[in-house]
Amino acid sequence: MPIYEYRCAKCDCEFEELVRSASVKIVCPECGSKKVGKLMSLFAHKSSDGGFHGTSGGGCSGCSSSNCSSCGH
Ligand SMILES: [Zn+2]
Repeated sequence: MPIYEYRCAKCDCEFEELVRSASVKIVCPECGSKKVGKLMSLFAHKSSDGGFHGTSGGGCSGCSSSNCSSCGH
């Protein structure tokens, strides 16, 4: 079951909610407001090992091999 991250538009708190069904109404646990927005950043933050190439591995922009002569990677 997916866990989504929400932010309340009224009191600006953030919370996580286990979503069992798409028809379930999400309300803020702090103030009870239904004006909550889903955050899409949860999985992007937690995927630390992969998916992105060129930003975390180091090297220059043209570096694709392990022995690039211009940056040493
Ligand atoms: Zn709230």
